[in-house]
Amino acid sequence: MFDTTIAGSLPKPAWLAETNKLWPQWQAQGAALTQAKKDATLLWIKEQEDAGLDIIGDGEQSRQHFVHGFLEQVEGIDFEHKVKMGIRDNRYDAMVPQVVAPLRLKGRVHALEAQFLRAHTKKKIKFTLPGPMTIVDTVADRHYGDKVKMAMAFAELLNQEALALQADGVDIIQFDEPAFNVYMKEAADWGVKALERAAQGLTCTTAVHICYGYGIQANVDWKNNLGQEWRQYELVFPALAKSSIQQVSLECYHSHVPPDLMKLLADKDVMVGVIDVASDEVETAEQVADTIGKALQFVPKNRLFPCTNCGLAPMDRDVALKKLKALAQGAALARQRYGS
Ligand code: ZN
Repeated sequence: MFDTTIAGSLPKPAWLAETNKLWPQWQAQGAALTQAKKDATLLWIKEQEDAGLDIIGDGEQSRQHFVHGFLEQVEGIDFEHKVKMGIRDNRYDAMVPQVVAPLRLKGRVHALEAQFLRAHTKKKIKFTLPGPMTIVDTVADRHYGDKVKMAMAFAELLNQEALALQADGVDIIQFDEPAFNVYMKEAADWGVKALERAAQGLTCTTAVHICYGYGIQANVDWKNNLGQEWRQYELVFPALAKSSIQQVSLECYHSHVPPDLMKLLADKDVMVGVIDVASDEVETAEQVADTIGKALQFVPKNRLFPCTNCGLAPMDRDVALKKLKALAQGAALARQRYGS
């Protein structure tokens, strides 16, 4: 009960990449970089285990960014000529690669990381991939001329990689779809369908993470303008409830999401965000257990997985580590409080 997990990313050590950045530059190249990525992954596997987490990830130590890490292995994308584009409905600008030809995988994307993760922990492992809709919102289209068509093309590629990750021994494959909270109507119309295409044929657990983004200033400003009640999930959850996706990761602690929206997820597993990623203040075990208690009004205890609100990538390493511990300790306290 209350198996703990993180949304996905963790801070990269200073010897691997620039710290406190969403698109950090690597500190090494070639074979040295490959080794440094492995070392950082091993470090975070150990830290997650020692903190007491139940489901372990690679902390996305091998990707510069959660979307572009996947795209680097896709043919038909021009990475040499990135262009500036407003993403997430123009919330902030990013330098994005361009889709210039039909999309095809060059080969495996995350084989090394997944197999390395599987080899170094006996616990359940989760692997994250960007969702099709979020990818479409993070590239410039110079070829397809149609968002849905391009999303379905990406979904096919994601599906190829997801099936291979499952064969690598991954227990849970999670697609990250922050774009679902920005384009709610489109998410319900075709975003969920594209997601199901990406998860087609998987027999491992499938999950989707929908959040209000990393704790960067552009997101903080955006959230300040969303009003007293954040009801974005209300439009997407009914479509997800009817979908084949089994788990949904959502923001809860310190957000303005009305917790009763979790009811809309019907019989899905719910990864409840009990750790705020937009604040360096470390949660206490009591606060984490209290958040779990609130969610229990709407989610049965056998389907509740305490989680972080989003990735921890741009945070200080020390703070992130303390938050992992708070997550595990809070879940342990909740087991005592609500267990019987
Ligand atoms: Zn997120």
